[in-house]
Amino acid sequence: MTTPPAALTTIDATGRRKWVYPAAIHGQFMRWRKGIGYFVIAVFFVMPWIKIGGMQSILIEIPQRRFTIFGHLFWPQDVFYLVFLLVGLAMALFFFTALAGRVWCGWLCPQTVFMEEVFRKIEEWMEGGHLTRRRLDAAPWTLGKVARKVLKHALFLLFSALVSNTFLAYFVGTETLLTWMTRSPADHWTAFLFMVAILAAFYFDFAWFREQFCVVLCPYARFQAVLTDSHTIQVGYDLVRGEPRGKVGEAPGDCINCFKCVAVCPTGIDIRDGYQLECIGCARCIDACDEIMESVQRPKGLVRYDSLARLQGEKTAYLRPRVLIYSVLLVALVVAFFWGVGTRPLVALTVIRPPGDPYALLPDGRISNHFSLMLFNKAPDRRQFRINLDGPLSADLVTAANPVFLEGGEHRRIDVFVNVPRPEVNGGRAPIHFKITRIIQEEVPLTDYEATFLAPGP
Ligand code: SF4
Ligand code: SF4
Repeated sequence: MTTPPAALTTIDATGRRKWVYPAAIHGQFMRWRKGIGYFVIAVFFVMPWIKIGGMQSILIEIPQRRFTIFGHLFWPQDVFYLVFLLVGLAMALFFFTALAGRVWCGWLCPQTVFMEEVFRKIEEWMEGGHLTRRRLDAAPWTLGKVARKVLKHALFLLFSALVSNTFLAYFVGTETLLTWMTRSPADHWTAFLFMVAILAAFYFDFAWFREQFCVVLCPYARFQAVLTDSHTIQVGYDLVRGEPRGKVGEAPGDCINCFKCVAVCPTGIDIRDGYQLECIGCARCIDACDEIMESVQRPKGLVRYDSLARLQGEKTAYLRPRVLIYSVLLVALVVAFFWGVGTRPLVALTVIRPPGDPYALLPDGRISNHFSLMLFNKAPDRRQFRINLDGPLSADLVTAANPVFLEGGEHRRIDVFVNVPRPEVNGGRAPIHFKITRIIQEEVPLTDYEATFLAPGP
């Protein structure tokens, strides 16, 4: 059995980068990947322009500390729900990795999708196939080579600018972005420099860094080994069928050692060396090998999606403890998130006691307590709220304005006085409930808060 190389295949013995020139490949997996890739790109570009309930579908406004996700507005007070969402997404990644390896990396990750469906295509268009590109890079600089390189990098920069501006729209909103685009950068230096930094990062990544992002930077590649096991479905080489490898008629194994699977690999590895950290599960080697198997009239699937267990002649166990645990946790988190978002009150209330005397005696013999109500309208629109007292005391609420109008996202401090006949608080303290109702046609109860009413001791 072959073993994976001890060093990265994209770094030579002196530590210098070895440029990868993956050959183009066509096949059933490439057709599906192309369709999915174009869908991911379309979602990325279109999503900021879609409005749900009058709000941008996804908007992360960091200075305002609010997030809009599919028509729902979240504030720092809602971080609880976002934790469910983020942990749920992480759990989804764990679940799919345990089940199907790096399916995210090879099929959905923007790094792979933009690289293969946009930047690699531009490069092939400008400089030709992998052998022509390799020859061009090795050739001395001529006017023709300069022209090709300049044009290619101009297109890279243009697409990077499109991506960076769209990326910015997720943070500032499409209206603000359009306004900025029609004005001088001097009017919004911070945002402009942010956009330029993203553009430069995208350009650097796709023009030069490329597969090194997956190989040396992405943390997911580092911990995938602990998420997978021998029953995980991954891209693998059938050693039993393929070895001993050799030319047709010279070796009994099915692998004819043509190196086509290596030639198409975007991370430059040989899948026959076993499962490796650099493998992003893109399935290019499957299509490449299937094409060869077809041409030598041997069954396809020498390189295929399968579990290590099956490649070694055992059965694949799909329902394993880790898959079951991840799926239960995933379902629980998804249910908790949607239940929480569906039932959360769109108003937040906090009650505090201002400094000073805890109570006052009124001339009519009642006792008065001063409270400050911090009321926050978490909804995006202007709403009308009423502050009510809900027993057990027969208390009287005095405030400057009730009901209260609050704009979408507005916080307001409202001072209220609660007056209670003394006999009702003979024990020195008693609970009172503040209730907030929303006034539409009729009042709708939203939230309540229990506070303590203080009085002189018995
Ligand atoms: S080994 Fe195959 S699946 Fe893995 S990165 Fe290379 S071409 Fe893609
Ligand atoms: S493409 Fe298939 S036959 Fe050719 S070297 Fe790779 S595994 Fe062997």
